[in-house]
Amino acid sequence: MSDLSLRVGNVEIVALSDMNLTFPTPLPDLFPGTDAGDWQPYRERYPDTFDGEHVQIEIGCYLLRSGGRTILIDTGYGEGPIESIGGRRGELMDDLAAKGVSPDEVDTVFISHLHSDHVGWNVVERNGELVPAFPNARYVAHQADLDHFRRPEVQAALPFPFMDRCVESIVEMGLFEAISEDTDLTPEVRALHTPGHTPGHMSVLVRSQGESALIQGDVLVHPAQVTEANWNCIFDYDWPLSTETRMKVLEDVEAKGIPVLSCHFPAPGFGTVERNEVGRYWRVGFGP
Ligand SMILES: [Zn+2]
Repeated sequence: MSDLSLRVGNVEIVALSDMNLTFPTPLPDLFPGTDAGDWQPYRERYPDTFDGEHVQIEIGCYLLRSGGRTILIDTGYGEGPIESIGGRRGELMDDLAAKGVSPDEVDTVFISHLHSDHVGWNVVERNGELVPAFPNARYVAHQADLDHFRRPEVQAALPFPFMDRCVESIVEMGLFEAISEDTDLTPEVRALHTPGHTPGHMSVLVRSQGESALIQGDVLVHPAQVTEANWNCIFDYDWPLSTETRMKVLEDVEAKGIPVLSCHFPAPGFGTVERNEVGRYWRVGFGP
């Protein structure tokens, strides 16, 4: 096992990176209601999550191998160039190749939610035509997100249009599978509805041989939120529900001591939720 992979019982999890970027929206605008002073303790504790007045954010994905199945969780920003983030291009497919994974091996693409930084590599362009980037996969996401992101007023508020390219194309190809409740992807891998960030947001709980890990999706987008669970970001759709879900998830993983995987924290996003005299905090890694 390298430091980018993790074994949970019989399940292997490999961390993947689509990119690491300085997010263009300045900090107080990204987390409305916070000011520079609020962030100071976290600048000291998590220095590699800041770039001046901006957040330095990882766009991570995870590959799971469970009982002969290969599941990719989230597909990053995609091939781009993505103008709203400075023309950047995602590198997920290169990272998969570097780790010896062929796109053909992936039988399930599980999408935690339908934001642009989680659906980008659903498709690739070949000779001017969109084709599935993972041709042997079914693409699974929550029905509530499909309904939500199809609403014209929701589409109008997106930083850039991506639904037709990255989601509707997959629906039209007959590869999209909508689920509407907690669902076992394999006997060891369970998708859990954790709404708030989006209406159909889901996390993934891995349980095997008495061990567990939670891939939390965007319940938490910055490690400071482990301590400041009521800080919502502008991309959280329903703030009270986002906070409620965040509290519940944090209580649960802390009480059970479950390792947590966070796609937007510095790669590989592995850590645990711990407590000191001040409160809860994100502890990077699983080491002693
Ligand atoms: Zn995200």
